[in-house]
Amino acid sequence: MAAALLDGKALAARIQAEIAEEVRAFTAQMHVTPCLAAVLVGENPASEVYVRNKRLASERVGMTSRLIRMDSQTSQHKLLALVAQLNADTAVHGILIQLPLPKQIDSHAVLCAVSPLKDVDAFHPENVGLLVQGTPRFAPCTPYGVQQLLIRSGIETAGRHAVVLGRSDIVGKPMANLLVQRGPGGDATVTICHSKTRDLAAITRQADILIAAIGQAQFVKADMVKPGAAVVDVGMNRLDSGKLVGDVDFDAVKEVAGHITPVPGGVGPLTVTMLLKNTLSAAILSAVKRDLLNTD
Ligand code: NDP
Repeated sequence: MAAALLDGKALAARIQAEIAEEVRAFTAQMHVTPCLAAVLVGENPASEVYVRNKRLASERVGMTSRLIRMDSQTSQHKLLALVAQLNADTAVHGILIQLPLPKQIDSHAVLCAVSPLKDVDAFHPENVGLLVQGTPRFAPCTPYGVQQLLIRSGIETAGRHAVVLGRSDIVGKPMANLLVQRGPGGDATVTICHSKTRDLAAITRQADILIAAIGQAQFVKADMVKPGAAVVDVGMNRLDSGKLVGDVDFDAVKEVAGHITPVPGGVGPLTVTMLLKNTLSAAILSAVKRDLLNTD
């Protein structure tokens, strides 16, 4: 194997230990325990697993978590009422609406209803705007995790060509936005590719850093990768055999790349970790606001 493995699982454990220490200090000083509220609508087995992992992780770092379950027939009105209630609840610092939501619900309207100060997934238009302007309040968890992976693995982004495969609002676009900002983990020259991109391989072969987030199993082949490139695989695809694979043909690409993330054990654990980081930031923001109001 030529490429060095970017071990997201080990890094996530290190960052979670740092967060646990910060939570301990924050709770001792402010007498507040950060709390993440997760809203799960309907019975999607994958969503159940994601929410369980997020809650367990939050409790591991000393936060509290709440799970609010709603049945699959829940109306938009009822869900919006719950969001309003969580927005007003001073004991809740982060609100997580697990996607996908059932068909009768307008997901965009629900995500826009979450208080931007509790929007730990960073999906609210106000938080998207702040990110684009280069002054993020919260960064979306998956791209934030990828950026931390690059920074903490010593992979230089400044002045290098980063190619992002995928333009979703959750991964591709915010990933590109983070990489193009000024500062550590940024200052890259960024290209975004999507399903209408022509001659995709000619573009990916120019990438010093290639980030794949398209949801197509083992799509990125060795001849699409520049020798020595850092390849980050966000994809999570289940093969008919049940095996979980990424968007990158790992066995072939590892012979060409300089660095590569595995699936599983790459980006996934970092996504959960950055959700915890955002929840702690939300709790800090709330405590600062409370203290400012008390001194007026
Ligand atoms: P979306 O389906 O929302 O977006 C996929 C993007 O990839 C679209 O922009 C689409 O283009 C583009 N695309 C699809 N096929 C091709 C192709 N053949 N060539 C070029 N571009 C293509 O997916 P997400 O961004 O939500 O997720 C992407 C992957 O990452 C999935 O496998 C998902 O499971 C995984 N994921 C993993 C996370 C983790 O924590 N590890 C977190 C979130 C997602 P167009 O816009 O033109 O349709």
